Amino acid sequence: MSKLTPMMEQYLSIKEKHKDAILFFRLGDFYEMFFEDAKEASKILEIALTGKSCGLQERAPMCGIPYHSCEGYIQKLIEAGKKVAICEQMEDPKMTKGLVKREVIRIITPGTFINEKLIGSFQNNYILSVELAKNKEVFSIAYVDASTGELNVSHVNYFDFGDMFYKISPSELIVNKTFVDFINSREKLARQIKNYIQVRNICVNVAELNLDEVESRFFEQSYLEKIDLNEPENLQIKLALRSLLGYLEYTQKVVAGNLNVIHWVYQNRYLKLDYSSVASLELMESYLQKNKKYSLFGILDVTKTPMGGRTLRKWIEHPLRDKREIEHRLDIVEECISDYALREDLRSLLDSVYDMERICAKISYDTVSARDFINLKESAFYLPEILEKIEFSQKNCLIGAFEELDVLQDICVLLEKAISDTPSSPLREGEIIRQGYSQELDELRKMEKNSASVLAKLESSEREKTGIRSLKIGYNKVFGYYIEITHAALKNGVLPQEYIRKQTLANAERYINEELKELENKILTSRQKAMDLQNELYQKIKEEIKGKIIRIQKTAEKIGELDTYLALATVSHQNNYVKPVLNYDRKLEIIDGRHPVVEQLVEDCLFVPNNTNLNEKEGFMIITGPNMGGKSTYMRQVALISIMAHMGCYIPAKSGNIPIFDAIYTRVGAADDLSQGQSTFMVEMNEVSHILEHATKDSLVILDEIGRGTSTYDGMSIAWAIIGYICSKINCMTLFSTHYHEITDIEHNFQNVVNYCVAVEERQDEVIFLKKVVRGKADKSYGIHVAHLAELPQEVLDGAQQKLEQLQIRESREQENATIPISQRSFFSLNEKDPIEQKVCHELKELNADTLTPIEALLFIMKLKEELQG
Ligand code: ADP
Repeated sequence: MSKLTPMMEQYLSIKEKHKDAILFFRLGDFYEMFFEDAKEASKILEIALTGKSCGLQERAPMCGIPYHSCEGYIQKLIEAGKKVAICEQMEDPKMTKGLVKREVIRIITPGTFINEKLIGSFQNNYILSVELAKNKEVFSIAYVDASTGELNVSHVNYFDFGDMFYKISPSELIVNKTFVDFINSREKLARQIKNYIQVRNICVNVAELNLDEVESRFFEQSYLEKIDLNEPENLQIKLALRSLLGYLEYTQKVVAGNLNVIHWVYQNRYLKLDYSSVASLELMESYLQKNKKYSLFGILDVTKTPMGGRTLRKWIEHPLRDKREIEHRLDIVEECISDYALREDLRSLLDSVYDMERICAKISYDTVSARDFINLKESAFYLPEILEKIEFSQKNCLIGAFEELDVLQDICVLLEKAISDTPSSPLREGEIIRQGYSQELDELRKMEKNSASVLAKLESSEREKTGIRSLKIGYNKVFGYYIEITHAALKNGVLPQEYIRKQTLANAERYINEELKELENKILTSRQKAMDLQNELYQKIKEEIKGKIIRIQKTAEKIGELDTYLALATVSHQNNYVKPVLNYDRKLEIIDGRHPVVEQLVEDCLFVPNNTNLNEKEGFMIITGPNMGGKSTYMRQVALISIMAHMGCYIPAKSGNIPIFDAIYTRVGAADDLSQGQSTFMVEMNEVSHILEHATKDSLVILDEIGRGTSTYDGMSIAWAIIGYICSKINCMTLFSTHYHEITDIEHNFQNVVNYCVAVEERQDEVIFLKKVVRGKADKSYGIHVAHLAELPQEVLDGAQQKLEQLQIRESREQENATIPISQRSFFSLNEKDPIEQKVCHELKELNADTLTPIEALLFIMKLKEELQG
């Protein structure tokens, strides 16, 4: 019976423990994959599938990649949603008899792969761990970006979890079975999560991790941010954190030295933005093309460093709610705007700063290269100049925010002294430690170099001795140093007796003599010693820098902030933004507001600015008008300006007084979600239901064309009832666009409703959409005009015009015949079965109007109204 070879047995026993990963099995200069892994990987990587005899009758399917260029292949596998377990040789095969010891040294997963090309320098790559509270109303979450060391924890309400999930967009999720069962039992949440996130890796086996040990080690070294994780209410957080750290350690096989600070994310500190708002307001990317360029982020992102890009992203996704905090940011932006030279100087210094956070991650996971150290040194080199410029700027807020910037000079000096400017990699083959850093290393190197000149001398003396001018001394890895003489030359010379033959080639012989042997010994020992010493010194430097990681991280965070302030100032200056005023008085006043993205796209600077004026008395804006009239743009612009103001950014307007909102809810657009089996209308109703449930009087609600996805009467009734609900129950500032003109009549029912429309000018045959939002109601839809602009065939346009005229004639006849106009009869008639309306009617009938004073009449009307509104 055939039996597996020992190596294959070793392979299979390691593979058994890493079933969910593709195993990269190190064999010499290659990582080999076998069996199913080989079949799968060869397809994804587009490499040849071969076979290797493994002791069994059939050869094992095999494919392989060179170890020194594995990065690109790993990236491809990660992109395909795979994990990769790296199994290395733990002994030098040359020094080992029999089977070499092998171990998995790291498991690379979508959440732990540190590669800028894949993640994108401005993006975070989070792993999320969730624990469910006993009452299932609260989720305790912990999420980490292993590539930057950012570690956050928070409690999230059940109903906010979907939005939170969307913002974190984890590439891996660590949960237990209770969570999976719970989510599956909540259809809406399950849909929400699946809908927007493609979680590529769900690790449910938390129980297998050795968590106690992880916890004690982590909490020893971590600086907790005023959180007592031993408080009973934080127990779930602690559990989530434990699984997260356990997973990191299980995959990386080292304690993550870059996880030092836990941020507690207080949900109330931030303006709440639901996932629908982030998507439909195109905060991070455009809705259809999924392109950063035409998003708010795309407009604001002129940051110079990856840390800046990531900070800006966070500021956009998490605008602030504390007026003082926002004003502080605005003041810094103002200072940066006011000094062009300072701004540009600082920005050009930031040009030379690398991704220090990701370098820290590489240091802590022991994957740092000498090149990374050079980049760290270059970044640190410019820090004192940055600090100096700030300190001499006379800008108080800026100075206050950055005067404590740690400029990391000890690190810069150490790296400058220790690491050579052009380090070769890999470490063992070249010079990394700079000349002058270690006397001992310099001497060993000198010895090696001297030997080289002794070698040259020996060569010429041997030439003389033998009389063979073409004699040369050479070296190869297998035979070491040798004296080479060609067969032709040998005929004319004298071969000294002490020459010992080492190797015969087709056209030459290779020899060695005593002197060369001695020299070889000297050279090789000093080279080996130099390499060992260099390695030792390099490890020490790595350890020393590792001990300073927290400082580097703090500086990186500050640099990210500085970069973001400078970017906001630059864009604000370029685009003529103004500093907003903020208030707690529920007043939203924008003069000549513009949409920050659309204004960049409209040709010839023809963007039409618009005003907004909402307050306690007039807080609900109904906007009617034709398609393509500019309604959506206007409503989004109000939301975007509000978000920008809450971020601490200037706004695209002539002036703006913005109230502090607690949340912005948006239902815009009509995206079908057919992949989830949901019609446009169903998606819309789901979102509206979420808004009505959670909006408060301090929220801003944007509703665009609600009810469009169903029949006219259905849609109109729903829109009508939604307005009623918001006005009477929530009373928040709302912008509501509709093409149901009849709805404008609702202004008679609710005091705070105001009608606006987008202006249209008709000149003879021409219809011009002015994109101006004005008080009043639209009475026409101009749909046929838009169809004309879209170049529908003339025949269709004529047909539509004819039909429209017929319908209009019929409607006006019906209206003449009816005592109550049709629209009113359908929607505003008294409900005879409603006891409150009955009661109100009765009170009116009974009232003796002649005896009432005006004040009494007014009070009576108010009382009736209250009764009606419940
Ligand atoms: P509606 O919602 O009324 O159908 P949109 O807001 O989608 O209309 O606007 C249609 C197009 O008109 C937009 O794509 C934009 O290019 C242009 N537009 C909108 N508002 C303005 C404006 N204020 N100034 C200039 N162009 C505008």
